[in-house]
Amino acid sequence: MLKKAGFKLTHELIAEGLLSEIDREPLKAKYEAGTIFIACSDCDRFKHYFDDLTSVIPRAHTHALNGGAILMDADLADAHPEHPVLRSAHESLFGLTGIEGDLGLKDGLHLVSLLSHFPCGMAAVLKMDLREVVRSTLKAKRLIKERFPSANVLALLSIDWRESVLEEDQALGVRTYGMTLKDWERFEAFFAERQALLQEAA
Ligand SMILES: [Zn+2]
Repeated sequence: MLKKAGFKLTHELIAEGLLSEIDREPLKAKYEAGTIFIACSDCDRFKHYFDDLTSVIPRAHTHALNGGAILMDADLADAHPEHPVLRSAHESLFGLTGIEGDLGLKDGLHLVSLLSHFPCGMAAVLKMDLREVVRSTLKAKRLIKERFPSANVLALLSIDWRESVLEEDQALGVRTYGMTLKDWERFEAFFAERQALLQEAA
């Protein structure tokens, strides 16, 4: 039931234009120099979204930790004092061992690609529903742009359709979608209108 509702929400997000397939050619041309890539280390899905991203931007300087982009949300550690490691993960991803270091150590990297995914075991441990995963990823994008004004940030959500109960979904495999911070209010309105489905998916 959890997954069924989650995939239904995802279909609706795509239909509303809130999630969209990545526009590959412009990205290829614009970010030839590469990207910093922050993603969940999920052993069943990492290869899929890494291959997907690097088919567009081959040079991907990668940080993979359980949860990926959601760890960049500054409020996540406050919300979960029972997991102090969240604060150190957040600080390390922003600091010398993360984005700040990457920008200084590697020439040409100005793009940060932030990826969260559904379903994600770490998000489930933190009891985050799809709305919270989207919120955390977009908040992370905003924070990176504040801290590193010269950086561009791509907010991505990977969906593992193979986990859906519907065969036509399963055929889609693992796909990467883009989200934009400009749609923050639209995302909020979308999820507010679908509380029942969201609770079913939680
Ligand atoms: Zn994950």
